[in-house]
Amino acid sequence: MADVILVLNAGSSSIKFSAFDVESDELELVTHGQVEGLFSAPHFIAFNANGEKSAEHSWGEGAKLEHADAIAHLGAYLRGHGVGHRLIGVGHRVVHGGARFTKPVLTSPEVLDELDKLTPLAPLHQPHNLTPIRIVAERNPGVPQVACFDTAFHATQSPLAQAFALPESITKNGVRRYGFHGLSYEYIASALPDIAPDAARGRTVVAHLGNGASLCAMHAGKSVASTMGFTAVDGLMMGTRCGNLDPGVILYLLDELGMNARDIEDLLYRKSGLLGVSGVSGDMRALLASGDERARFAIDLYTYRIGRELGSMSAALQGLDAIVFTAGIGEHSKEIRQRVCEQAAWWGIELDAKANESGGPRISTTSSKVSAWVIPTNEELMIARHTLALIEDWREGASA
Ligand code: ADP
Repeated sequence: MADVILVLNAGSSSIKFSAFDVESDELELVTHGQVEGLFSAPHFIAFNANGEKSAEHSWGEGAKLEHADAIAHLGAYLRGHGVGHRLIGVGHRVVHGGARFTKPVLTSPEVLDELDKLTPLAPLHQPHNLTPIRIVAERNPGVPQVACFDTAFHATQSPLAQAFALPESITKNGVRRYGFHGLSYEYIASALPDIAPDAARGRTVVAHLGNGASLCAMHAGKSVASTMGFTAVDGLMMGTRCGNLDPGVILYLLDELGMNARDIEDLLYRKSGLLGVSGVSGDMRALLASGDERARFAIDLYTYRIGRELGSMSAALQGLDAIVFTAGIGEHSKEIRQRVCEQAAWWGIELDAKANESGGPRISTTSSKVSAWVIPTNEELMIARHTLALIEDWREGASA
């Protein structure tokens, strides 16, 4: 009977899942999919290892599905389709590990209580990430679960890189830069030695450009700085998030425009970025296809902001040897990669147009001073690896 690890990535309205066979040399994907639209129009879809659809179900417009119901549906799917598979552990993506959890951890009621306390630092994500851990613990009390944190990879940053210039009375509450997308960066760091050994050893900026977007400055595979800070709204312009903003703007919104905290949250997280600036869409594909002048301006601002922040990350690294593109836009948009590389031409990046067209992995010329790469990320595999490693340690500990 093959053993599998289930990876869950739960948000406010969706649960993404992947199951990996642990018997193979490298963890092998068995099935993946998601339940989305939990509270509007729930829809379940799953794919097999070849990317073919293996199941689909809709609950209809206006239906509401609690996270527990979605997980029950997922469990039934896995049992039905996973004949011969035995669930040995569940790994979860958890956005915030705070100052204490700088590595993945086996969950327990005590650990969950600690993670609950971090909810004020990530109110939009943390509670939804923790809910499935409790649900699985209730239904499958014998199955070990592992929480993997988006912040953990950045724990190697220096106190300087983590600090805000605020009084200690404020920073002692945990108000500092944490950085996010850490599981993606960790996966890239693990893939670099095989694909680009010099970039793995050197000063590399990884651009995770998805709906959320950030840059990570890595030296020899360790995080030195990141554009995201206390929350995942900082740094680059994103699909619907604004990125860097003068804090004075928030005071203006409060005092002069009469907005309250929730209005401002909605503005900064859901109505800004590509969507807010273009007024057309927060989806890069739609903007690239649009003839609208505001869509063009939004793309200009998007790439300009990456160029500026690339300068900041490179300064933190005291130089630049390589840049790596990943996530939806980074992996699939040759146009955005080209524009970012053009912005950064002064660094000595020379794009190989043909290689960029075909998607890399190397997209810079051999004479380029700074090399450029496209590497697809795989956060789920990273979570599965951590989960397996902790379960093996735990089993060894239990049998010692
Ligand atoms: P998430 O952060 O939600 O995981 P993704 O990493 O899937 O998101 O990235 C989503 C973004 O990638 C969207 O803006 C989407 O338009 C963009 N994207 C996906 N494919 C392409 C493409 N071929 N060209 C341009 N943008 C693309």
